[in-house]
Amino acid sequence: MKDTDPHITRITETAPVATNTHGGRAKCLQRLVRLSLPVPLTVALSFRAVNDIAEGRLPSMADLLEPFGEHPLLCVRPSSEDPDWGGPSAVLNIGMNDATHARLSAQIGEEAATALYKSFVRTYSVHVERLDPDMFEDLPPSGPEALALSLRAYREETEEEFPQDPAVQLAAVLKSMARAWRGTTARLLRQAKGAPADAGLGLVVQEMALGLGKDGECGSGVMQLVSSTSGKPRITGRYLSQSQHREALREGSRALYLARDERGPSLQELAPEAYDRLVEYCQLMRFRLREEMQAEFTIENGNVHVLDALRVSRSPRAALRIAVALAQDGVIPRDEALCRVESRALNEMLHHQIDPEAPRDVLATGIAASPGAATGKLVFSAAAAQAGKARGEATVLVRRETGPEDIRGMHAAVAVVTERGGMTSHAAVIGRGLGLPSVVGCSELSFDVKKERLRARDGRMLKAGDIVTVDGSSGDILAGAAPLIEAAHDEAFQAMMAWAWEYCDIGIRANADTPADAEVARRFDAQGIGLCRTEHMFFDAGRLTVMREMIFADVAADRRAVLDRLLPMQRADFIELFRIMQGKPVCIRLFDPPLHEFLPSDRAGLRELAEALSLPLSDVTRRVEALSEYNPMLGMRGVRLGITMPEIYEMQARAIFEATVEASREGDPVVAEIMIPLVSAKREVEMVKTRVDAVAAAVRNETGRDFTYRLGVMVETPRAALKAGDIAPHAAFLSFGTNDLTQMTYGLSRDDAGKFMSDYVKQGVFPEDPFHTLDTDGVGELLMIGAERGRAARPDLILSICGEHGGNAESIAFCRSAGFDYVSCSPFRVPVARLAAAQARIRPTLPPRAFKTS
Ligand code: PEP
Ligand code: MG
Repeated sequence: MKDTDPHITRITETAPVATNTHGGRAKCLQRLVRLSLPVPLTVALSFRAVNDIAEGRLPSMADLLEPFGEHPLLCVRPSSEDPDWGGPSAVLNIGMNDATHARLSAQIGEEAATALYKSFVRTYSVHVERLDPDMFEDLPPSGPEALALSLRAYREETEEEFPQDPAVQLAAVLKSMARAWRGTTARLLRQAKGAPADAGLGLVVQEMALGLGKDGECGSGVMQLVSSTSGKPRITGRYLSQSQHREALREGSRALYLARDERGPSLQELAPEAYDRLVEYCQLMRFRLREEMQAEFTIENGNVHVLDALRVSRSPRAALRIAVALAQDGVIPRDEALCRVESRALNEMLHHQIDPEAPRDVLATGIAASPGAATGKLVFSAAAAQAGKARGEATVLVRRETGPEDIRGMHAAVAVVTERGGMTSHAAVIGRGLGLPSVVGCSELSFDVKKERLRARDGRMLKAGDIVTVDGSSGDILAGAAPLIEAAHDEAFQAMMAWAWEYCDIGIRANADTPADAEVARRFDAQGIGLCRTEHMFFDAGRLTVMREMIFADVAADRRAVLDRLLPMQRADFIELFRIMQGKPVCIRLFDPPLHEFLPSDRAGLRELAEALSLPLSDVTRRVEALSEYNPMLGMRGVRLGITMPEIYEMQARAIFEATVEASREGDPVVAEIMIPLVSAKREVEMVKTRVDAVAAAVRNETGRDFTYRLGVMVETPRAALKAGDIAPHAAFLSFGTNDLTQMTYGLSRDDAGKFMSDYVKQGVFPEDPFHTLDTDGVGELLMIGAERGRAARPDLILSICGEHGGNAESIAFCRSAGFDYVSCSPFRVPVARLAAAQARIRPTLPPRAFKTS
């Protein structure tokens, strides 16, 4: 072999081998060589060399085989740039022929040599020559006759003798592996894992270390120092005497444990020296390759060979623990540890998860809207969920879609499943807020809510009371009770969060509507509440009726009278929130939803309401009909209510200020933030501001106490973003409500998009669901325009984002580089957001495009 050819190079300490030219496996083997580990002689073929082979331009086999001596026995493995992109299976024992068979019979025994030869003939026929595996079907499993018959079968099928020349065998193996990489299935599979269309394949040709023999212990196995599931230190793997490659991992093999184990015999007992050496090698790899590695090894007559090493596969929680341990042991710096954990994966760890090793009986899959897993009995109404809770039963609430009237049921259930909806639909938003595993838009299940039945995609029928497990992290609904593992708030998690704090340079607040949410926000160290959706406070049983009375009031005076009854309730809510947040900012959004959301939609509900309000059913029905709108999300909601029924906002402002005074008496002074939703014109802000300021003045007068507050605007309409320059002088802050802003920018209903979003994403119309990942191109342009125009008009303007995108890594990176002050997301996503923000600082991406805005 010419030493000068970088495309076919023997792997030495200094050979020109790189991941982007020869693949990850070749590079890793070079690293092992540099650590002086006992790696069998290996030659690496670059992407270009393999590409040439696929196109029929073979290198000189004589040159390639030259380093391996006269009687080569080799294996060839794939080496793609990223091991996750896969590649063709390894082919072992290339070079087996009659002569080698005779030689090996003397060395390792005839039986083993025959078995090896027979197995190579089969592999070569099926995987290299692509012959029909059936041709070996009726042969005896072992022995000389089996070998002879295999060779005969080959001859009959190909009309040629089995090739005896190692060069011919190797050339055929290389060609078949190079071509397999170009096959459609392989290409699609790797592209699904993020590989570029032109991803290359390298190959490594390695001398076999046999693992078979009779002069001392022989066998093969894999070893790693940590558990792939938990990441905790534990020597794991398997070893099988008289075996090759990964046979020890095959189910049913009589493989040994590695470390001494109560459950059975171990390598540590069988070959303690080899075991110690392997542990030492793994530790050396950990330290010098700065990663937990799994070693694939062979013991040949008592001598250890390391054939390969792979990054230990790991669950998200294991990834976190491994990264933290590597940093704590000084192997990697903290900033690198922070970047080794996917922020999204952290999200799942904060909730129960289905044991990744357990079998999954999937009934259907929908949109994974709120992570975590829970098991419960199916119920089809909020009332049944509440009744279940009262009986101490875990329930899974199934609805076509949820609405405000389901909130109490959602509180009572352990998980929720809806037929309709997308990432920002009601069930998804509330589910994430509550930390409730939720799968939405699950149209694979046929819903018959009336008969309380579901039909799974394979036709299985489920009825109320049946047990299912909801996996809100994957979107799967599973039959029965799947084994769950606990949420991980352990020391490793705490350590990583503390490091993330040090790097995080954008504020992280939580969207919290209730004291329970606020407690979670505090627990995760949120720097305040960025969005309190006050309407959620009115869905409580006791309040809903008062709220409905308010809606039914005909004139402002009547409305005010009912609002006077709601005032103390709201005040108490805010006092509690302020107390929990202990002086941290709390941003309260004034009432936002269309009023009809508080009204019943079915006849029974209407009758109940008529009774509660002592009104004729016809009056109630008429009123409900009068409030119905063709397009409620674009109708009478948000600030439009505040303008037309000013008493509601006045009551809320009073409650906020009285609570400010009250909570500031005992603790740190509270600076409340008040946010106006769905603004589209400056005049709306001016009018609300005038009234809110007047209420503040009145409360100051009445209580004799001074306080400050900030009034801001929620930018949820494209017009508000465009007119931010006009609005900013009247607003201390602008908070971008990217759920509505996305809905209105695309003209795409957030509640209906789930039905076709997956088609849109599959067909590449949208790169991602824009309700999930901020559309930095379009909606992002509006954010930039709003930010620039707002800041130009008011340099001290505080900018934030409080839509669901606030917890998404890409959106956080965008907001950070656009100079936003903080992001706000559901409380359980605060750690995720903090890690994503730290990562964005450590690995800054390009700043958002500078849009010309004037
Ligand atoms: C938004 O629209 O982004 C928002 C935060 O408000 P909501 O989801 O309550 O409409
Ligand atoms: Mg909104």
